[in-house]
Amino acid sequence: MSSSSERVDLDGNPIKPITICMIGAGGFIGSHLCEKIMNETPHKVLALDVYNDKIKHLLEPDNLPWHGRIHFHRLNIKHDSRLEGLIKMSDLTINLAAICTPADYNTRPLDTIYSNFIDALPVVKYCSENNKRLIHFSTCEVYGKTIGSFLPKDSPLRQDPAYYLLKEDDSPCIFGSIEKQRWSYACAKQLIERLIYGLLIFMYLFFCISCFCFPIFTNILSLTAEGAENGMDFTIVRPFNWIGPRMDFIPGVDGPSEGVPRVLACFSNNLLRGEPLKLVDGGESQRTFVYIKDAIEAVLLMIENPGRANGHIFNVGNPNNEVTVRQLAEMMIQVYSKVSGEQTPETPTIDVSSKEFYGEGYDDSDKRIPDMTIINKQLGWNPKTSLWDLLESTLTYQHRTYAEAIKKVIAKPIAS
Ligand code: NAD
Ligand code: UDP
Repeated sequence: MSSSSERVDLDGNPIKPITICMIGAGGFIGSHLCEKIMNETPHKVLALDVYNDKIKHLLEPDNLPWHGRIHFHRLNIKHDSRLEGLIKMSDLTINLAAICTPADYNTRPLDTIYSNFIDALPVVKYCSENNKRLIHFSTCEVYGKTIGSFLPKDSPLRQDPAYYLLKEDDSPCIFGSIEKQRWSYACAKQLIERLIYGLLIFMYLFFCISCFCFPIFTNILSLTAEGAENGMDFTIVRPFNWIGPRMDFIPGVDGPSEGVPRVLACFSNNLLRGEPLKLVDGGESQRTFVYIKDAIEAVLLMIENPGRANGHIFNVGNPNNEVTVRQLAEMMIQVYSKVSGEQTPETPTIDVSSKEFYGEGYDDSDKRIPDMTIINKQLGWNPKTSLWDLLESTLTYQHRTYAEAIKKVIAKPIAS
């Protein structure tokens, strides 16, 4: 770890050590963020989650170099009175907690809405009331479908970025009809974004009107200005398919046998078991994938450059790593064969309908390319890792972590 005096922000100012209340720290993104903060900064983390398996290596044993800088609090933010106290003790709160696996959006829409909107409300409220900075994790899914997806398949306009590039301050949010419950997640995330953004505008207007109407109270307002500015201390992150080690679970090994994780873990599971990879509705949807370690660099820049990050919504993704889901499957098959030394399966992929795979109410985002203007301008961040390289390191991890366990699961006789 570097000492605090050696570390400076993007404007050359020394970075002071802070305490971070990280909600959902035990998940995929949280575990990488905790690791980065422990390894490279002097900051303290109050790590809140219902699980800690993915950060156990950071918590034990007692002689780790960062001992005393990370404390795990096992709690469910739905109903735990410790939450406000932990936010008050911190300089910054990062909220990662969410149900965020598409298989849940159409099958458990109410849980999805509660988790992504209702449960996030107290976090926003406590931050706002206690003048604490908040970095809230939203999603690229708030953009929904592209405008181009409504054009005829052969329309040349589909190649025009104006019809597909997703811009924070410009693009509309286009969801499917109400019976397409897939969009429960995007709607809930959008509403919490709007609430946070609304608070930001409200505090700004309050400040401007106060200054205009009551110049006589300038001195008093110079005190409350601190409060108003604190009220604006929000950053919203829209991740575009961050992937890497520790993402989700492998069904039947470290998660439920019938569970359906996100695509990286679904395809990893198929590869580990030597099964064909399942392409939902032909695998035609397009995604851009960014390596978790690149994306975490962006989050650290947001943490340590509040003056540049506050009041902004940031797309965080890698526009250069675009593939169709079918191409992703083909690439993962090749990479897995390279890292495991195993032959590629005879039937590498099969097509399944979305109804069969996810059930009623599934729908999909057609294409997700992040516009990078805002994050470039504010934080100078760019992703570095190619899709091939990130798959190579991730599938090496998956093979090393799960191959033996899968063999044992497969060898076990099924109880009749
Ligand atoms: P994850 O599921 O691995 O992590 C979420 C963590 O939150 C889990 O450890 C879970 O136990 C915890 N949590 C959920 N509800 C909780 C509660 N009530 N109380 C305490 N802890 C709770 O997911 P992730 O990929 O790390 O995603 C983190 C955030 O980023 C989420 O808000 C998600 O919507 C957003 N996001 C991620 C991606 C991505 O590419 N990984 C894409 C879009 C959005
Ligand atoms: N998908 C697939 N096979 C799988 C799992 C997912 O074809 O086994 C597809 C899914 O329909 C979607 C894409 O992969 O088009 C990405 O899915 P993911 O679960 O990662 O989440 P999303 O990007 O949709 O939020």
